[in-house]
Amino acid sequence: MTARAQIGVTGLAVMGRNLARNFARHGYTVAVHNRSYAKTQSLVEEAGHEGDFVPSESMADFVASLERPRKVVIMVKAGAATDAVIDELLPLLEEGDIVVDAGNAHFPDTIRREEALSARGLHFVGTGVSGGEEGALLGPSIMPGGTRESYESLGPILEAISAKVDGTPCCTYVGPNGAGHFVKMVHNGIEYADMQLIAEAYDLLKQGLGASAAEIGQIFAEWNSGDLESFLIEITADVLQHVDAETGSAFVDIVLDQAEQKGTGRWTVQNGLDLGVPITGIAEATFARALSGSVPQREAGHAALPAHTQEWEIGADDDSRARFVEDVRLALYASKVVAYSQGFDQIAAASAENGWDIDRGAMARIWRGGCIIRARFLNRITEAYERDANLPLLLADEYFTNAVGNGLAAWRRVVAAAAQNGVPTPAFSSSLAYYDGVRAERLPAALIQAQRDFFGAHTYRRTDREGTFHTQWSADR
Ligand code: NAP
Repeated sequence: MTARAQIGVTGLAVMGRNLARNFARHGYTVAVHNRSYAKTQSLVEEAGHEGDFVPSESMADFVASLERPRKVVIMVKAGAATDAVIDELLPLLEEGDIVVDAGNAHFPDTIRREEALSARGLHFVGTGVSGGEEGALLGPSIMPGGTRESYESLGPILEAISAKVDGTPCCTYVGPNGAGHFVKMVHNGIEYADMQLIAEAYDLLKQGLGASAAEIGQIFAEWNSGDLESFLIEITADVLQHVDAETGSAFVDIVLDQAEQKGTGRWTVQNGLDLGVPITGIAEATFARALSGSVPQREAGHAALPAHTQEWEIGADDDSRARFVEDVRLALYASKVVAYSQGFDQIAAASAENGWDIDRGAMARIWRGGCIIRARFLNRITEAYERDANLPLLLADEYFTNAVGNGLAAWRRVVAAAAQNGVPTPAFSSSLAYYDGVRAERLPAALIQAQRDFFGAHTYRRTDREGTFHTQWSADR
């Protein structure tokens, strides 16, 4: 076996197969391998004409077909399968080789694997890959962690196959060990928040205007030509205008209203709790999916709970309907800024805790193309972090302060209307509560501290002098 492949992919299900084709289409000689040989054969039979593939049936031949330092991309089911593949690879690799896990690993696993492989003189790169099946083939957003040294030889190959926006690759070095997979996790969490906010906007327009799915689809299509322009708004417009071929009904109306999840939202929320970072938008979005799937509770609630709602205050005339649509648009934008601001806070906190030194502006830049949350407004986030790399709060950047400030009255009207009319808007409402909390000069947390000192002698700090204090409450009573 001549060692002539520049990169190898093991794991050739939808993602690995398309990633291998993407490498080949960019002129790289790609070693390909899969646990069961059938997938390797079908890749070469069906896509062999697209480039130079070197298929191997055994892992040993696969490794032997790679130029040194070897670059092996693992694209298998996340979890135990990744460990199994690493164990099989290890005896075949040599010092300086680079093992890339491009699956959706949980970042603590990546930290553990990196530690084990670096002890054996190997580079381990945990990388986020976003954009699904199509992104893997046509250009994903790629978030690689690991050593800077590994990025020197691996980075150019990953940048070549990544999406490009304004000629800039949607791939950059993220940081050591688990940083890449961490950033991918937060990306997915933000995706949950974005989708939930869009769903709430749809529900408000549906209930407030009594509009049809197709009409709301048109509204989203218009929104997509403004500040909200993004992949998710674009596909929402298409989905809402889609008609079910079987029934002739709006497609969205025949879909069961129970949202599923694979777990990255949950990981993001768990980590937000560990770090003590309020990522309320992501958390509400994750819980909203859980609520949608809580069938017995929903049945009991639907049967027993009164609504006591008020009449909508939207007039029948076009002007007041248009004002409501614009209010919802502004509320959606403001809530979205909050969700991103919180997600970037989480990245900053994890980066500080783990010594990752993640450049948040660069993360927004590589999310502009290839991935599910790609959006026009990510440029504004990059610019904000370029103005101040240590910005403590994205919302407090002048651009976002003005953008959200302009829509603040509308945001309050929408959240109030949702509450009065019984439309569940957990992400809109909690984002506004976060906004008011983070801008407040003084919070009722003072009372909580006093209570804690009362029942548990947990102590408190004072506004008028330094130090830690405890009050003898029983003597006071
Ligand atoms: P998948 O369904 O998650 O996994 C199937 C692949 O894993 C097959 O190649 C399978 O080999 C291999 N595999 C499973 N157990 C194995 C084991 N014990 N040893 C060796 N190989 C094993 O595939 P996928 O949907 O292409 O996703 C691959 C990775 O990308 C996952 O980590 C996923 O989370 C991540 N990802 C997926 C998407 C997406 O849109 N699908 C997007 C981003 C990231 P056999 O053919 O022999 O069974």
